Amino acid sequence: MAKANQHIAYREKLLFELSREGKRGVTLEDPLPDFPLPEDRRKDLGNLPSLSESEVVRHFIRLSHLNFAVDLGFYPLGSCTMKYNPKVNEQVVKNENFSMLHPYLPEEKVQGILEAMYLLQNALIEISGLSAVTLQPAAGAHGELTGMMIMKAFHADHNTGKDTVLIPDTAHGTNPASCRMAGFKVIPVKVGKEGYLHLEDVKKLMNDNIAGIMITNPNTLGIYEEELHKIAELLHENNALVYGDGANMNALMGYAKPGDIGIDILHFNLHKTFSTPHGGGGPGAGPVAVREDLKQYLPVPVVDEKDGKYYLSYEIPKSIGKVKAFYGHTSVILKALAYILVLGGDGLKEVSEIAVLNACYIRERLRKYYHLPFETPNMHEVVFTDKFQLENGITTMDIAKALIDRGFHPPTVYFPLVVKDALMIEPTETESKEELDNFIDAMIEIAKIARENPEELHNAPQNTIVGRLDEVRAARHPKLKFG
Ligand SMILES: *Cc1c(COP(=O)(O)O)cnc(C)c1O
Repeated sequence: MAKANQHIAYREKLLFELSREGKRGVTLEDPLPDFPLPEDRRKDLGNLPSLSESEVVRHFIRLSHLNFAVDLGFYPLGSCTMKYNPKVNEQVVKNENFSMLHPYLPEEKVQGILEAMYLLQNALIEISGLSAVTLQPAAGAHGELTGMMIMKAFHADHNTGKDTVLIPDTAHGTNPASCRMAGFKVIPVKVGKEGYLHLEDVKKLMNDNIAGIMITNPNTLGIYEEELHKIAELLHENNALVYGDGANMNALMGYAKPGDIGIDILHFNLHKTFSTPHGGGGPGAGPVAVREDLKQYLPVPVVDEKDGKYYLSYEIPKSIGKVKAFYGHTSVILKALAYILVLGGDGLKEVSEIAVLNACYIRERLRKYYHLPFETPNMHEVVFTDKFQLENGITTMDIAKALIDRGFHPPTVYFPLVVKDALMIEPTETESKEELDNFIDAMIEIAKIARENPEELHNAPQNTIVGRLDEVRAARHPKLKFG
């Protein structure tokens, strides 16, 4: 068996356990002369641990090594697009001309950043096939909420009285949540046995209350929504809108424009598709693109250009208002622009190509060993189940934990919910064939052990500092307090 990463073998104590009376790093009694701590705050610092600076630094660096990271190894977490993010893009953001800007500087002093934002808006317009973009939303789910508020504004403006949104049962959990937050009712639609939505099933649910549909393409099974263009036509005939969840754009870029398929509102996940590391809680960015007649509802301000000068335009009379302080997460915006400019149109097309190729390669090599619930060809991710292994009592969770022992982050497990015991693998475009083969070999080895020696897998992982954790208890009874 391959050995798990050595450096995750520390047993790190708590700072409170490492603390020794009288040790000191920064002295709070002696703050920076220009920023004195208020008297009353200085008096009661509570039970803070006492350590030297080097001890604190080492403590946190050791803890940071307990993390699995995409810069450490393969991270095939389905739906999340955990791909390698080129470091050169971080260099762009660190440039003082960007990093030292203040949002209240006058426009003539910040032409550079405004131009960068303008260029990104245009790039996303081109990629989406839509007409206008807001860069403000802070993440995918925030983009969804913004988009659904725009849908709401559209129906209020046209006095349609429509208040219900259809959502396929393959959807990411944020989709129905965003709809509810924007004040819509939600009706789920079942996907067909091929793994995509059927026009007929949508037709059955259509009525005068349907304000729109919220759909992810390719969906969370990694399957292309074959009938989306027909479904969009049906919605449009009924004066309803089509919201596209664009989290999976790394399967489509350069090949299909959501606007051409009939999508009216689309969010991007810059932190998935366009090179911002994520998973630690942000910042991300979820820009929203809309078709021409929905431009009038976008949040203010958008960046515009006139006579070679860039400016923040607040001239959006029916705007839903502001959804974010200032202008969005500019560091993420800059990284996305750098990534797009470096790759160019052909490069982005190649991203989609390799993302899909890598997932297809895994599917074809593993299908003998793991049950494939859908025969429909997949795009950038592939869903298996534990059906074959379950005959020997081995579950999706056992397989995921056994992968940790072999140095891999597990795939997404038990999602999407429409597949029983799902194992959802998204290799992304940045993995080499060698790394994919290593992963495939590990999966085949696990399938073999599941057949011949299943008990071994019930105790996985064994090469990590803690073994199998009771995840339910950790969530239900978290231990949040020291002592
Ligand atoms: C990740 C994801 C989201 C949510 O995006 P966040 O940036 O995490 O808020 C929504 N839909 C799909 C399909 C996703 O994969």
